[in-house]
Amino acid sequence: MTNNHVTKLQIDLNAVKFNLSYFKQKLQESTKILVVVKAFGYGSDAVEITKSIQDKVDYFAVAYTDEGVALRKSGVNKPILVLHPQIANLELIIKNFLEPNIYSSSILDAFLSITDAQNLTDYPIHIKFNTGLNRLGFKADEILIITKKLNKNKSVKVASIFSHLAASEDKNERDFTLQQITSFKKTTADFEQEIGYKPMMHLCNTSGIINYPQAHFDMVRLGIGLYGFGNDANITSELKNVVSLKSIISQIHIIKKGQSVGYNRAFITDKNIKIATLPLGYADGIGRIFGKGVGFVTIKNQIANILGNVSMDIIMIDVTNIDCNEGDEVTFFDNQKTVEKLAKNSNTISYEIITSISQRIKREVLH
Ligand SMILES: *Cc1c(COP(=O)(O)O)cnc(C)c1O
Repeated sequence: MTNNHVTKLQIDLNAVKFNLSYFKQKLQESTKILVVVKAFGYGSDAVEITKSIQDKVDYFAVAYTDEGVALRKSGVNKPILVLHPQIANLELIIKNFLEPNIYSSSILDAFLSITDAQNLTDYPIHIKFNTGLNRLGFKADEILIITKKLNKNKSVKVASIFSHLAASEDKNERDFTLQQITSFKKTTADFEQEIGYKPMMHLCNTSGIINYPQAHFDMVRLGIGLYGFGNDANITSELKNVVSLKSIISQIHIIKKGQSVGYNRAFITDKNIKIATLPLGYADGIGRIFGKGVGFVTIKNQIANILGNVSMDIIMIDVTNIDCNEGDEVTFFDNQKTVEKLAKNSNTISYEIITSISQRIKREVLH
């Protein structure tokens, strides 16, 4: 389906490549790199991102099976780790040669029964341990339960052992993170002893890569950093912006003192103003939280606040002091600082701003 919606999310693939090499420079030569492209490549376009860098990375990861299937369908041939495969999708995992995160006995048993039935050998799986995030993962005291099953079953092979840091971006939680690193090392060593070979070990996300070089191990998992955010103002300033959200003015109105703007008359002006109507709303990822001046756009480098309530497909902005016309370009964000500001104003993090841009918005890839 062609998408003629004038609002567009531009994706700068040169910036992606720049950011990838920025993080690669922080790694030892032998450390592998996995790039996380879950949630449509953090709201951008996972297919375009993976295709542009697949010769420069070792692994990709997605959250759900369908996301991995979409990459395979588009011709991505690198190993793809599925971080949260669902038991109902395990056959689909195998059919598409995706590699599941095995994080509990129930998913291990379900997967082994399928790999056994299909007479597979050494199908790659990834064992996840919970070292403190308390989200997904085996506990260290389950090692023997897992290895007993694996040692008498040749249908799978452990490609990696991994865990996830809970607060790698937070310097105040350094002690906690160091404890996670220590416990991950011990768990891995104990696991290897039981299983008799050495799978890859990996632990670090973007902030882990930056803050804990001693924990890069065999591979790192780069997510938000690829898209230009380092969870730290200094690092972010060294990265390049990848996604820019732009639109155009649909209509301009002059609003007289005492009149209201938008649903529920949530904004009533106390003076004569000029407003512009834009073709994007909460169904595009500009949530109602951004109404009433919480969100803003820029036109010709001047800031224009959102007036009243955000509607499903439309917002209105105050352009009283901006010389602009219908059809002029409007920028919602085109740099990381603006994304961080929008995140701060709406009480969230850059991750949520960029992943919220809905699939209705056209993606425009810049090579
Ligand atoms: C999302 C995710 C990552 C990437 O995290 P960033 O902070 O975006 O770098 C790494 N590992 C796991 C398990 C994840 O879920």
